[in-house]
Amino acid sequence: MDTGMEWAGRHWLTGERVRVLTAEGRIRSVAAASGSNGEEGEAWIAPGLIDLQVNGIHGIDFNDPSITNDCIRSAVMYLHSIGVIRFCPTIVTNDKAAMLASMRRIAEACESDGTVARAVIGIHVEGPFLSGVAGARGAHAEKHMRDPDWHEYLRWEEASGGRIAMVTLAPERRGAVGLIRKLKARGVIVAIGHTDAGEEHIREAVEAGATMSTHLGNGARTMLKRHPNFIWEQLAEDRLWAGFIADGHHLPRSTLKAMIRAKRNKSILVSDANHYEGCAPGRYWKRNHHEVVLRPDGRLYMAETPDILSGAALGLHKGVENVVKFGIGSWAEAFAMASLHPAELMGMSGAGDGLTPGADADFIRYRASPDHELEIVETVVGGKTVFAKRGHVSSDSKR
Ligand SMILES: [Zn+2]
Repeated sequence: MDTGMEWAGRHWLTGERVRVLTAEGRIRSVAAASGSNGEEGEAWIAPGLIDLQVNGIHGIDFNDPSITNDCIRSAVMYLHSIGVIRFCPTIVTNDKAAMLASMRRIAEACESDGTVARAVIGIHVEGPFLSGVAGARGAHAEKHMRDPDWHEYLRWEEASGGRIAMVTLAPERRGAVGLIRKLKARGVIVAIGHTDAGEEHIREAVEAGATMSTHLGNGARTMLKRHPNFIWEQLAEDRLWAGFIADGHHLPRSTLKAMIRAKRNKSILVSDANHYEGCAPGRYWKRNHHEVVLRPDGRLYMAETPDILSGAALGLHKGVENVVKFGIGSWAEAFAMASLHPAELMGMSGAGDGLTPGADADFIRYRASPDHELEIVETVVGGKTVFAKRGHVSSDSKR
């Protein structure tokens, strides 16, 4: 019998000191707590982070078909340690058999491990129906690019046990519009990305049911007609949410700021992290496909073409921190872009302010330093502490 737990901290939106009571894995109440607001070093409470694009993390590659259940579980535990409670493992362009094998691995881990199953929203398939144009394809393998194929999608659905949550595609590819309609009818989120589309293709994709732009401003050719172009078209389209990689490398600060201002409450932060997150700087041979360089500042790029990045090497918590550091938004705005906004896009319960009675007791406690460093001190999933920073006494406020 779960008799309930209690957490204290400052509410992420109001700054008020609150006590969050949980029972049976859900939030029972959020009540004002005594004590003055703003005690130094006091933790804040916010909804847990949701990352819709994680290729891998901390040495674990979701695109390696040989990874074990234990690897996937340890990736989940690591994500919890950086405040991410739910995420979409992202499978990228590869040959058909390898993509299916990676999807099967995720499905098996979900079926055998409740912690993994709870954390995985569903699989984000980024590719292989993408543009092969240099720049637009980013680090995706051109030789594996292909046109949209409903039958291939059905095999993904089977391999993943019905866990395909999102598909990123280039709408200019033959058959894309028809596939978008079918995916929408299936309840799958369709995202536009790695595209070289004309504006009319973007409009057609949205009419057919696309609702998201994958890492807008990246996965694009390096030289583009100033306007109109597919970036402006997506920025101005109010029906599209947009994912942004706020690692400080993928978009210049001014671009990130202008894009977030344009997308407002349809802005979503994603990490697009891969397994080089947490690795030592140096040169690596990525998935036996291309050589990459990881700089000490976290910039990860193709060794042959340094202008082209090869995914990101920073977790989502760093993106939240950067939104504040770069002067783009407040902590509350940054956290909303990495929790409430993706939850709304994915149709997940527990909307409101993320700390609503009746919602799943999934939240984080954090501290923010005066120079905008974010420290995750505790992650709570289903009313249980799944991560507590070493030295942090998580039980002091519980009964
Ligand atoms: Zn991408």
